[in-house]
Amino acid sequence: MAKEKKIQEIEDLPGIGEVSASKLRAVGVDSLDKVATMPPHELAEAAGISTDAAKKAVQAAQESTTVNYETGNAVSERRAQVGKISTGAADLDELIGGGMEAGAITEAYGKFASGKTQLGFQLCVDVQLPKEDGGLEGKVLFIDTESTFRPERISEIAKARGINPEKALSNIFYVRVQTTDQQILTAERADKLIQENNIKLIVVDSMMALFRAEFIGRGALGERQGKLNMHIHKLQGLADKHNLAVYLTNQVMDNPGILFGDPTTPIGGNIMAHAATTRLYMRKSKEEKRIVRLIDSPNMPEGECVIKITRDGIKS
Ligand code: ATP
Ligand code: MG
Repeated sequence: MAKEKKIQEIEDLPGIGEVSASKLRAVGVDSLDKVATMPPHELAEAAGISTDAAKKAVQAAQESTTVNYETGNAVSERRAQVGKISTGAADLDELIGGGMEAGAITEAYGKFASGKTQLGFQLCVDVQLPKEDGGLEGKVLFIDTESTFRPERISEIAKARGINPEKALSNIFYVRVQTTDQQILTAERADKLIQENNIKLIVVDSMMALFRAEFIGRGALGERQGKLNMHIHKLQGLADKHNLAVYLTNQVMDNPGILFGDPTTPIGGNIMAHAATTRLYMRKSKEEKRIVRLIDSPNMPEGECVIKITRDGIKS
């Protein structure tokens, strides 16, 4: 029996030549998984092949892709290895289960001056620490939509951590983005940068500011949420693939629908609500104190703690 060529790339599929493959890649169909889940008529159109050929290609893609099952124990062992970044405050680390988790998205929302950006700065320094000191020995991609990145704060926090400030800053890849398209593209093109530089933290500060400014009115909401969804999926994909932590800040609005209790609601609707594994609600207290509340975590009880914003960074 003739040995069949192993199907690894989309051009290995029957009926898909180099031309069809590049047509498919141009519309984002770049993996066997994607072909395997496509209706044949869509594949036919996208690749410029007949529906019959497309049916065969989809079937071959389905046969070549596998679903990998794991036992609960294996997941448990893997979970024990998950990297965590210290937030600088022991109480906050404890609240979120030992620090900010790699492979996941953490969102902090709250009003102005509630400490969202400051917590981001702290993470930028702490991720660089050795593992035994609460870091991941990694670098940072900082996507700034509001021009609130302050190198001098990084320097102060680094000094307090015993890290050379120049070195700390040189480990941060900073991008100022002005439009949602730039924001999305920065994430889309980050794979190489991440891989080559051992990036272990992506900060997007703020996630929603540009989306909020660009898509105004009810009519634009559908388009906004669609783009946002794609962007979040990419970020989650980067978190999974490179086992890095994603930290997003988010703004709030007053929800007039909430009659009792705190009407402060993060923006971004359901899409944002489902994006983050861990959501933190930050609010101002007296002087340098801030209250951090953990909202719907998959494995930690809801709770609150108090942190302080100091010159040296976040403290308990
Ligand atoms: P926004 O929604 O406006 O972006 P934010 O939640 O990101 O707000 P931060 O910038 O994180 O707010 O917090 C600002 C607060 O941090 C200031 O009110 C100030 O109290 C505190 N802060 C900033 N720099 C220092 C410093 N060097 N020493 C102590 N506290 C500082
Ligand atoms: Mg801020």
